[in-house]
Amino acid sequence: MLLIFDLDDTLIPTSKEITPKKLDSALKKMIDAGLKINFEEGKKRIHQLNEKAHRSKQAIEYLVLECGGDETHREIGLKALEDKLLDFNVTPQKELNEFLRVLRKEYPLAIVTGGSKQVQEEKIDLYKIDRELFREIIVEDWGEKERAYIQLKERFGSFLVVGDRIANDLSGAKKLGGITIHIRQGRGLLEPKNHPDVDYEIETIKELTRVLERV
Ligand SMILES: [Mg+2]
Repeated sequence: MLLIFDLDDTLIPTSKEITPKKLDSALKKMIDAGLKINFEEGKKRIHQLNEKAHRSKQAIEYLVLECGGDETHREIGLKALEDKLLDFNVTPQKELNEFLRVLRKEYPLAIVTGGSKQVQEEKIDLYKIDRELFREIIVEDWGEKERAYIQLKERFGSFLVVGDRIANDLSGAKKLGGITIHIRQGRGLLEPKNHPDVDYEIETIKELTRVLERV
């Protein structure tokens, strides 16, 4: 059985360590371009909006609307989300590599993530995730993961997916006959419990071992 992992908020703590800084930098650029809000107030507001948003993109769009900004502000804000992560201080996922190394003895592993290829790959490297552990690392456009699951199913047969976003990561997999694990981390904490597309719920990636004993 192939084990497929989502990246953001599944393997790495994106919402905690990356998103807040990206939003601050986007806000700063929009203010420099004339968006009418002061930085401290804007910062408070954009983080509030982000807590309820499905994606950081939405937090930026809502803020632009609230401040009466225009298309230029929106574009500048969204573009800032794709900026390089050069000065980001993150916690390298050393233990994660060890954990995956053990799993790999028994199962082939893959990552299927959504977003910009450049940004996603940069995050994998920033967190020092060992690419060699994975048979495939696929970056799809946001919301298009099913296509990757179909390809992987053809190659590897049965599969299991771990992800924090039910509709984005798990519903397509469930439809294709995969086993679905909802990880309640980051944005995943906003998702409902006992969802019909979820076979198992876990709180941390290490609990996957417990699930694998049962499937
Ligand atoms: Mg995710």
